[in-house]
Amino acid sequence: MNIINHMKKLKIITAYCLLFFLAAACNPEAQGDQESPKAEQESPKIKNVILMIGDGMGPSQVYAGLTANNGSLHLEKSSYSGFIKTNSSDDYVTDSAAGATAYATGHKTYNGAIGVDSSENALPTILEIAEEHGLATGLVATSSITHATPASFIAHQPSRDMTEEIAADFLLTDIDVFIGGGEEYFSDREDGRNLLAELEEKNYRVSNDLDEIAQVTSGKLAGFLPVRRWSEGRNDQLMKTSETAINLLNQNEDGFFLMIEGSQIDWGSHDNDLEYTIEEMLDFDRTIGKVFEFAENDGETLVVITADHETGGLTLTGGNLETGEVEGEFSTGGHTGTLVPIFSYGPGAEKFSGIYHNTAVFDKLMNALQLDAQ
Ligand code: MG
Ligand code: ZN
Repeated sequence: MNIINHMKKLKIITAYCLLFFLAAACNPEAQGDQESPKAEQESPKIKNVILMIGDGMGPSQVYAGLTANNGSLHLEKSSYSGFIKTNSSDDYVTDSAAGATAYATGHKTYNGAIGVDSSENALPTILEIAEEHGLATGLVATSSITHATPASFIAHQPSRDMTEEIAADFLLTDIDVFIGGGEEYFSDREDGRNLLAELEEKNYRVSNDLDEIAQVTSGKLAGFLPVRRWSEGRNDQLMKTSETAINLLNQNEDGFFLMIEGSQIDWGSHDNDLEYTIEEMLDFDRTIGKVFEFAENDGETLVVITADHETGGLTLTGGNLETGEVEGEFSTGGHTGTLVPIFSYGPGAEKFSGIYHNTAVFDKLMNALQLDAQ
């Protein structure tokens, strides 16, 4: 990838030099001008990438949230947007495992696959590659941290159901911070291993208290919190844990890669529960607001927000932007094959407009961070 990029650059430079030479030859005043031409536009530095995935967040989920919020979302601050083709390698309709694996590795794979290709071979993930290149890395979710979306960025297992194996894979990496549910897969295991103790041996601060987690500002952190829906007392957990992760990762001078998931937009839509879907959409959007605030102040952070697939086949049949009323109908209890939106903000954001496959997001993020898969 880097070689191709390099060749492209060379070609552009060569073409520019030729033009410059011709112009100089035709324009006597330009002769003797020793200043070399500025061959390429200086692109702003991208130090950090924050990838935000709204699980199940199709266009109707976004617009239901926007309507319920009286006509606006933080998401609208995005500079560029596009659409993603979400199909997996074996199905027109993807699941979250294949969807997240496409973002994490740049490969389409079968539904249920966690960080492996169609032949069940492990694929390096952008998080692992970033870690190898000296970036700090993190995962934050409102589901179990071993659930398909976060798991696909760090684990390599043939099935999303292998939650204990997925939890063990966290110990094989040097991820700096992860916060989500699923403590039981680390502590109450068939193989008798106590992964919480193993994490502590690897110098992780292990905590299951949100206030305590929110106070951690350095070192490595493994945060375990109960998995519950927003209206059942989760409150501003996603905002707080995202801010904690950002502050901690931002200590690293060489930048960071962070994936934040609004996990339960999907669950609300699986339940065909519009209220559940909207409250999760708005919780995710408030977190987007916080992330944009950081990115705006930082100036070297690229934020990309997308979904793995749409869930529920949500159709908005009515609503009122002033009163926030929304009426909707679901056509399925499962996922759908429709395009999902992608939004971007910060340096390099322009690269994310257009219509393309989920796998291209990996390539674009790798380019943004100037990472090489080898
Ligand atoms: Mg998910
Ligand atoms: Zn789902």
